[in-house]
Amino acid sequence: MIIVMKAGAPAAELEAVEERVRQAGLKPHTICGEERQVVALVGDERKFDPDFFAACPGVEKVMRVLAPYKLASRLSTVAPRSVSVGGVEIGGDEIVTIAGPCTVESKEQIMLTARAVKAAGAKLLRGGAFKPRTNPYSFQGLMEEGLQLLAAAREETGLPVVTEVMTPADVELVASYADMLQVGTRNMHNFLLLKELGAQPKPVLLKRGMSATLEEWLLAAEYIMSSGNHGVVLCERGIRTFEKHGRNTLALSAVAAAKLETPLPVVVDPSHGTGRSELVPAMSKASVAAGADGLILEVCPDPATAMLDGQQSLSIPEFEQLFRELRPVAESVGRTM
Ligand code: PEP
Ligand code: MN
Repeated sequence: MIIVMKAGAPAAELEAVEERVRQAGLKPHTICGEERQVVALVGDERKFDPDFFAACPGVEKVMRVLAPYKLASRLSTVAPRSVSVGGVEIGGDEIVTIAGPCTVESKEQIMLTARAVKAAGAKLLRGGAFKPRTNPYSFQGLMEEGLQLLAAAREETGLPVVTEVMTPADVELVASYADMLQVGTRNMHNFLLLKELGAQPKPVLLKRGMSATLEEWLLAAEYIMSSGNHGVVLCERGIRTFEKHGRNTLALSAVAAAKLETPLPVVVDPSHGTGRSELVPAMSKASVAAGADGLILEVCPDPATAMLDGQQSLSIPEFEQLFRELRPVAESVGRTM
């Protein structure tokens, strides 16, 4: 961190700043320019927000040198380049597809979908049991019964299961059924949930908050990792912008930027990212070309009668077709499918 003093700041103010730096356990290294002084902080500055120094009299501005996250950073030696989910590696050469309905509705629906997506090439099964709904009167998911149905689908197909957990109190229950726990966009800033997920061993699919910056997203990953769980996969799922042509704006540049910034695997959710099934194939291919390690796609037997998110769900034949089209795109960027 670098503290820039105001031009002409008196010596007493500079000394007070240097003292505050020392109190923080860091070493001040002061450079005296012709007009002003600059204090460089030596040591691990991540524990301190720039605000910690910005309010000192005589300070003009404070700038970070290091990213505020550490374990999620490319400089880290501990952050994994791939994460294993029930034996399926996300972040290796293979593009991993996670597919399934928005929400588990019935035994028949989840079994039929699981069999079909597996046959088409999906490696993991998704399905919501606890649904984060904007309207409190809307269907909230089958809850534990939904988890049981997902476990039954895994039993039959062998597909590991990814499902959302919404509250710290449910982590143990959801982890007892699921192979990977999903943090939804609305919960990316739920720091108590992130800490709870960090204190258990199942891998976490961390969706980007719909208004979160890349830095905030990686700090959310840091919450999980610094609590002890390094099995984090990031998921870009679209952000809120002024654009109206879809439910969200799928930020594919965030995928390329994240890949430069962190070794954590990144997957893309073009279903929620667009909200329109007709846009999903193009955005899936673009995601793979942009460097994504995988896709999470909503697929169901009959989108027209789905309880949730039918407008953005692929039918099974559409998913099979997309899978065929994705293979050559993956190969063109040196990946397999
Ligand atoms: C979901 O994947 O079912 C979901 C609710 O996604 P998001 O949190 O991205 O809206
Ligand atoms: Mn959905």
